Amino acid sequence: MRFQGRDWSAVIEGERLGLLDGDWWSKRATVVAQAAVKDVTWLPPILPRTILCVGRNYRGHAAELGNDVPAEPLFFLKQWGALTAHEAVVTAPSWAGRIDYEGELVLVIGKTVRNVTSSREAVDAVMGLTVGNDITARQLQSRDGQWTRSKGFDGFAPVGPWVVLDQHPEGRQVTTTVNGLVRQDASTDAMIFPCDRLIMEASRFMTLYPGDLIFTGTPAGVGPVESGDTVEVTVQGVGKLSNLIKNGD
Ligand code: MN
Repeated sequence: MRFQGRDWSAVIEGERLGLLDGDWWSKRATVVAQAAVKDVTWLPPILPRTILCVGRNYRGHAAELGNDVPAEPLFFLKQWGALTAHEAVVTAPSWAGRIDYEGELVLVIGKTVRNVTSSREAVDAVMGLTVGNDITARQLQSRDGQWTRSKGFDGFAPVGPWVVLDQHPEGRQVTTTVNGLVRQDASTDAMIFPCDRLIMEASRFMTLYPGDLIFTGTPAGVGPVESGDTVEVTVQGVGKLSNLIKNGD
């Protein structure tokens, strides 16, 4: 995880944070100080080169928006400035029309890979797991015909709070609440293209680098948010990502 101040990296130790000095990536970092979890302002837990996403990867979600299930993974990108943190306020431009939440499991890549052809190699390319909200301006999405703008507003990719160093995304419940009411609740086992397949297919056309994020798609139950709503996305065994939505320009 990362938080504001001196751009610390840290590890969670209960309600405390162990602040790291050194190169945590190579596991040579040591804990040099402590802070309380409640006192920190969160940053995105990792700075990716690329935020790769997958559309329509759950049957129920494809159906609810009137789309067919794709024959191969439907990849798109979110621009880097969309990245934001746990507990950051997300600005929903009032001129952009309907704004939707999309709770998702997010893979964090740990190795430079290209042309991954086996499931084992794909699993090995994963450094860890985190939680994301693929916020979407739904009306602009259909109006534009492609998704650069509708999914790419600054702040439309909240990620966090932290990365769990675990290579196994299977069988995890993804649950999204708006103001405490459950709107999405499905297992990652319901993905059309599982995570290993996503890595294989993505690496056929692009090199994946350490720190890159892959949003793995959202289950059924997407819907609009209003200014003042709090959206919380929980991935079982990973964490809970919380963001307040506010109208703005
Ligand atoms: Mn999505």
